[in-house]
Amino acid sequence: MTTSPRLSKFLRGIHCFACETSHDPRTLLGVCQRCGMPLRVDYDLSSIRLKLADVAARPPTLWRYRELLPLEEGDEVTLGEGFTPLLAVAENVWVKDEARNPTGSFKARGMALAVSMAKHLGAKKFSAPSAGNAAGALAAYGARAGLPVTVAMPDDTPKPFFDECALYGATIHRVQGTIADAGKFLREHGPKDAYDVSTLREPYRIEGKKTMAYELVEQLGGAVPDVVLYPTGGGTGLVGMWKAFDEMAALGWIPADKRPRFVSVQAAGCAPVAKAFHEGAERTEAWANAQTRAYGLRVPSPLGGFICLRALRDTHGTAIAIEEAEMQRATLELAARSGIDVCPEGGAAWAALAQLRHSGFVRPSDRVIVFNTGTGLKYR
Ligand SMILES: *Cc1c(COP(=O)(O)O)cnc(C)c1O
Repeated sequence: MTTSPRLSKFLRGIHCFACETSHDPRTLLGVCQRCGMPLRVDYDLSSIRLKLADVAARPPTLWRYRELLPLEEGDEVTLGEGFTPLLAVAENVWVKDEARNPTGSFKARGMALAVSMAKHLGAKKFSAPSAGNAAGALAAYGARAGLPVTVAMPDDTPKPFFDECALYGATIHRVQGTIADAGKFLREHGPKDAYDVSTLREPYRIEGKKTMAYELVEQLGGAVPDVVLYPTGGGTGLVGMWKAFDEMAALGWIPADKRPRFVSVQAAGCAPVAKAFHEGAERTEAWANAQTRAYGLRVPSPLGGFICLRALRDTHGTAIAIEEAEMQRATLELAARSGIDVCPEGGAAWAALAQLRHSGFVRPSDRVIVFNTGTGLKYR
């Protein structure tokens, strides 16, 4: 299904995160054709001359990092995603406010890249299971691309998530269970000819979400934060930012050995990454009976769980699971003290900060980033 996509001249190849098998970037790819694991997009970083200061005058979207993205200018399907505000909320603490993206969450970043690439590589239809925000973002970017979208979401997902997909003209399925069941439903009953943009089942959503790391460094005036608190579901953003810090080191934007300590924040009712991290395991196990109001964290068996674990260990980070009541309390506390439109996932990250200060993992002098991954307005 090769058309003639205008791929970036810096794109070097696509390799499997698990077995390193090489794949052809000119084709519409899913998971690794050999082992079924997620794919990684690689660039010829040594020939990219871009400096952080060079992007300062570019438009305030994630496309300002064009040299580190897979396609040429002019081919993007965009709604102006990225370059969200980094808001100081306390001494040495900033909230990266991802609620300010199109469709109200950072899923817009990933879908902008996935839809742009797939469209130029010949996709004619899209589908994805979702805990909520991914469906809304896919529906919007599909509409922007002029291509039909089918989504499946758990039946108990709040109404605004369904309304949003309907607004953008998507075909919607309600499925009993979690996002895992929604994925199974689509594989069995979804349109056979649709391109599946499920989390980490195509290579480009990572490329969209990694831009959050470039923005953090740019917005901190070139400094690398000490700790990043990231509400982790499928792990796209965690994996993407981990990759982006390596890319920035290779480009000379940051010191070669300086990385933030990444923290995966999960919900006590669905914490496969936190459990595996603390057990010293290399892979996550499926979480039975996943339950949390932080729908973005209700991902019982993340395909990229092993990559999340690598990222946490590689950066001397940690993982933490937050109880529902504490998440709720922290959501209200952060919103009321900051004016930020906080979602339960962002509230979980705020709660994690208090607990990690108490345990000593976060020191007073640490520069800390708390991710508010989406708007709180859809949770009712
Ligand atoms: C999807 C989602 C998450 C989890 O993101 P991943 O990068 O897939 O781990 C967190 N918060 C919200 C609001 C989400 O929609």
